[in-house]
Amino acid sequence: MRFCRFDDDRLGLVEGDAVRDVTAATDILPALRWPFPRGDQFMTHFEDVRREMERLAPSAPSKPIAEVKLLSPIANPGKIVAAPVNYQLHLDESRVDTEINFGSHVRTIEEYGVFLKAPSSLIGPGEGVVADWADRRIDHEIELAVVIGKQGFRISEADALSYVAGYTIGLDMTIRGTEDRSFRKSLDTFSVLGPWVVTTDELPDASALDFEIKVNGVTKQKSNTSLLIFDIPRLISYASKAYTLYPGDVIMTGTPEGVAPVVPGDVMHAWIDKIGETEVAVRGTW
Ligand code: MN
Repeated sequence: MRFCRFDDDRLGLVEGDAVRDVTAATDILPALRWPFPRGDQFMTHFEDVRREMERLAPSAPSKPIAEVKLLSPIANPGKIVAAPVNYQLHLDESRVDTEINFGSHVRTIEEYGVFLKAPSSLIGPGEGVVADWADRRIDHEIELAVVIGKQGFRISEADALSYVAGYTIGLDMTIRGTEDRSFRKSLDTFSVLGPWVVTTDELPDASALDFEIKVNGVTKQKSNTSLLIFDIPRLISYASKAYTLYPGDVIMTGTPEGVAPVVPGDVMHAWIDKIGETEVAVRGTW
């Protein structure tokens, strides 16, 4: 299954180039009272919602994907975990490019571990990244994004993939500079997810997917997820050694070589094999 969120918080079931509006499926979600449970409640109850989506789909209105505004398919992730320097060639370029490393020695993912991006930085492709820090370099980083489907703590690598609900495209936008990653990668609009989540029944194996990002039609980053230093099971196991993972938590798996600046007016075109493609505009104003 491919699901998306679009326009004014409509829930969509993606079928080819069209989206069925199955928002009514969310009526089965429980009404909540304070204190609200942790985790994205749509993903917590995903199996029930999914049955409703499939039941409603045949009679649900449909419109072309190209005509909708795509929001982040995960509305309320409790956290966005991200992997730094998780491709060797990106580590190599980061060590030689002073505009990336800002004079600091770039260490390995074994030394850094993972970091967190603020959920408030999250947008969908249709919303656009705002790059209004004129004196600073802001880069795109395309990454395979993993959506967690069930709660887990201290998950073994052997069990890790059973905690995955699906995959989507992530952009880990980054302002280069000396500040900590959690600052530089958590600016509003700096985490993009979309265009939709492909669930693991349709995409069981994301370990060898080609992917690419173009800016204004020019290829900037092009790699394959088989080149991850910490692969998906290792990232899940590593993150869950520290943090309980909840349904709807997102893991951005890291970016390959070719990170490059974007400026207002640019259009990023991101593609991952077996997931899809999407366009994200870069804007200069709010
Ligand atoms: Mn990144």
